[in-house]
Amino acid sequence: MFANTEFKTIIDVVTRFPTEKACHQYLASRRWSDGLMVCPHNDCGHEQAYVYKDGIRYKCKKCKLVYTAKTGTFMEASKLPTIKWFLSIYLFMHKKGISSIQLSKDIGCQQKTAWFILCRLRLALGNETKEQLDGVVEIDETFVGGAARFKHRNKRPKYLKEQGRDLPDKTPVMGFLQRGGKLRAMVLPNVTSDVLYHAVRKNIKEKSTVMTDGYRGYSGFDYLYDCKSIDHGKGFYGDGEIHTNTIEGFWSQFKKGIKGVYHKTTPKHLQKYVDEFVFRYNYRTLAVQPQFDCVIANMKCRLKYKDLVA
Ligand SMILES: [Zn+2]
Repeated sequence: MFANTEFKTIIDVVTRFPTEKACHQYLASRRWSDGLMVCPHNDCGHEQAYVYKDGIRYKCKKCKLVYTAKTGTFMEASKLPTIKWFLSIYLFMHKKGISSIQLSKDIGCQQKTAWFILCRLRLALGNETKEQLDGVVEIDETFVGGAARFKHRNKRPKYLKEQGRDLPDKTPVMGFLQRGGKLRAMVLPNVTSDVLYHAVRKNIKEKSTVMTDGYRGYSGFDYLYDCKSIDHGKGFYGDGEIHTNTIEGFWSQFKKGIKGVYHKTTPKHLQKYVDEFVFRYNYRTLAVQPQFDCVIANMKCRLKYKDLVA
């Protein structure tokens, strides 16, 4: 199989994939890494197929249906040349975020098409399998939207601080960051203790050590986790190991990214942006090609335009 250093630069990507066939063969090598072209039609799953002369299409020997390495992926219904998808993935992972306007200029397509590409990439990233976190996990939330948006709670106006849990025009985003491990973040409907409790239970293994800033009083799970907290409100910051600085660092990147590239986002689409930034954060230390492959590994999801604008 391929070494993971085949391409690094954007020129490498263009050179490596001169034809549609070269793109498809790469997708096939990633999708069917054991060489068995598993039929994606109607749970057929048959492992033997005839290969067409174009080197792109396969015909299942059992159900006789035709498919390609793109069938059942976010690229399936797209008429764009695959190299434009590859360049989109490259730019999407490589930059700190890219707007649909910029992407449309970079790869040469309509802005609407670029917007749809980005939506599908984000959907794919959100598709990633998420194991529970353990070890030492920092928990923190941030609020997006509204007048005092993007501000950490200790920088928000006092009336908002006092308002506490239910900030009416803001969307809460909850984050869990395992030190030396992965980050998870999700948009929540509110931050009542019930909702928080379920988010924590779902994402963090029992008996882990959780670090909170103590503001919300993540009560109710002391018996499940080793809880450590600091209290910004009282002016105490990270006391040695007890801090939430790592996740706060991520929020700061996220807010800068959203503000700088996307300008505005609606609660409806916020989770997709969160997924994008979390994915990029989790794979930030990888080289270009492994990052690219991480996106490809999640390509098996479909998204129809009408569902997106509904
Ligand atoms: Zn089949």
